[in-house]
Amino acid sequence: MSQEILPKQPTIKNPPEQFAGDVWVDPIVAPQDGDQRATFALVKFAPGARTAWHSHARGQFLRVTQGVAHFGTRDGALITAHPGDTVYVSAGEEHFHASAEGTFMEHFAMLENADDPSTTTTWLEHVTDEDLAGH
Ligand code: MN
Repeated sequence: MSQEILPKQPTIKNPPEQFAGDVWVDPIVAPQDGDQRATFALVKFAPGARTAWHSHARGQFLRVTQGVAHFGTRDGALITAHPGDTVYVSAGEEHFHASAEGTFMEHFAMLENADDPSTTTTWLEHVTDEDLAGH
C-alpha cells in the first residue's frame, strides 16, 4: 500500500495516422498496480481537428470541458456536446471525435484497457467531410 503524487506526464502531440489537424493529449491516469485497467486523459483539439474512425474494446466515456464537440457513428448519427456533457460510446462502436469549426475543444477521455492493452483501441481510416456532416 502507498500513496504518492504521480510524476506529471508531458503533453503529447497525437500522430497524424490517427488524427487530422492538431490534437494533443495530457495523460493523467494509467494503471499502476495489479489488475487496474482505467486510463484517463485530457485531449485538446484545434478548430476543425478530428480523430480517425476507431473503436474501444471496453467502450469510452468523454466529458467535454471546453468548446463544442461532435461525436459521430457509422449510422450517420452525430452528437453535438458542450462543456458539462458526458458522452458514452459502447464497446466496439466505431466512432470519431471532432471539434466544431472555429473553436478549440477539450474533453476528458476515460476508458478501460483490454486484456491485451495493445487492443484497447482499434484505429481505422480517416474521417471525411461527409462523415463529419453525418451522412
Ligand atoms: Mn474514442
